[in-house]
Amino acid sequence: MTPKSQADPAWQHGRRLEKAHHWQCLHCDMISRGGGITRLKQHLAGGYPDVVNCAKVPAEVRKMFKAQLNNKKEQRLQTAAQQAEFDRRATQDVSGVHYEARGGHYDEEAKLQAGIRASLEHAEFEREQMY
Ligand SMILES: [Zn+2]
Repeated sequence: MTPKSQADPAWQHGRRLEKAHHWQCLHCDMISRGGGITRLKQHLAGGYPDVVNCAKVPAEVRKMFKAQLNNKKEQRLQTAAQQAEFDRRATQDVSGVHYEARGGHYDEEAKLQAGIRASLEHAEFEREQMY
């Protein structure tokens, strides 16, 4: 069995050099001083402003890496959106605790408004965001 995690298929198109993250493209012989395999993939896929496009990579290989990188980008965006949702909820939780902590003054009111607390907290949260 081959250790797949260490052998990214992209290394079929590039050669690792001795220095960490340095590599040489097997298609055009370009040497990159840094960036590692991600940079190699971007070099093969093309269209990245910071990375020199590979002039010699076959079109189907270019397409394959382009698709692979686009996939990854979408996954990252999704994760970021989820993280933002988590953050939003966490902030709301904190503002809920905040509301509770000031309860001394608002106790009766809070009890009366228990039913609509969720929306109240939300308004409170938005007001706090403005300062
Ligand atoms: Zn190349």
